[in-house]
Amino acid sequence: MVDAIVIEKGESGQSISQSQVTFEPLAEGEVAVDVAYSTLNYKDALAITGSSPVVRSFPMVPGIDFAGIITESRHADYTVGDRVVLNGWGVGEKHWGGLAKRAQVNGDWLVPLPDGVSMRQAMAIGTAGYTAMLCVIALEDQGITPDKGEVVVSGATGGVGSVATTLLAAKGYNVVAVTGRMSEAGYLKDLGATSVIDREEVSGKPRALNKERWAGAVDVVGGQVLANILSMIQYNGAVAACGLAGSMDLPTTVAPFILRGVTLKGVDSVMVPKAKRQVAWQRLATDLDQKKLEAMITEVALEDVIKTAPMFLEGKVKGRIVVPVSPE
Ligand code: NAP
Repeated sequence: MVDAIVIEKGESGQSISQSQVTFEPLAEGEVAVDVAYSTLNYKDALAITGSSPVVRSFPMVPGIDFAGIITESRHADYTVGDRVVLNGWGVGEKHWGGLAKRAQVNGDWLVPLPDGVSMRQAMAIGTAGYTAMLCVIALEDQGITPDKGEVVVSGATGGVGSVATTLLAAKGYNVVAVTGRMSEAGYLKDLGATSVIDREEVSGKPRALNKERWAGAVDVVGGQVLANILSMIQYNGAVAACGLAGSMDLPTTVAPFILRGVTLKGVDSVMVPKAKRQVAWQRLATDLDQKKLEAMITEVALEDVIKTAPMFLEGKVKGRIVVPVSPE
């Protein structure tokens, strides 16, 4: 029996508790992992609170990511004692996830933890930070180099936003952080933002085009914020869009695309092929300032995960929430 957070669904709806689960014997290709650390991401909050139909099979152990040590392996690439990290692949949605002492998953989904990254750091990065890296790579792929102009990051105090701000600033970009919490301007400047603007500036009813302000953007908010950002991207600029913290809608027009050649690049982290994941994790190991990462961390015990999750939906989370499960 293994200690876990468990979501169940009955006639009266979804319920959640901390309880005990048992696992089937390993199938061919699977590994068992002693989870050292997990995290809370926005999607975990949706799953735990049941506010969006993220969980597609019940009972479910939530937790879309984890870092840990392999304790059993029926996969050719892994042996007992290997340090690994997992993000996505439907874990915590369709397959039991990281908010448990043990995880049992397809070994193909794992990434070996790069040297120099502890399991705690890996989960301080978590899916949010790994997605931030994918967004940075997406902007680079579109030719958005630091000399092209400022880049804007929305939802900047959150998990994706904090890591994106830090990574972009370290690469020499001038980062404009957009936040609904101007009281956190000091935190954002410490991460490397060159300026901080109030979300109000990009929240109004969007026009088709506005004055060109930014070469690129990382957007986690969607809705009117993304539409306003698109209207202010410079000629041939690009936006990496990964989130819906504000809205699933996108009330824009084709004007930024057909008149300014703007690229809207969608970023998904869940089904990314392994080779690209390894590139992203290797870059996180080398490019992310560990002191700045440390400043983003709040630790929440497994026992407190259920009561903490709603904070994401209230827009109250700053930085990254790390869950020590069986810490090193
Ligand atoms: P988070 O830590 O909660 O950060 C979201 C930030 O967005 C908040 O800190 C807040 O920043 C801002 N925000 C919150 N509610 C808002 C609202 N109603 N209107 C406008 N801004 C709001 O969440 P996260 O883990 O960084 O994830 C951010 C988004 O990215 C989520 O939608 C998540 O589902 C998505 N995501 C997608 C992928 C993918 O694979 N595509 C991967 C990871 C995350 P300020 O207070 O600074 O404004």
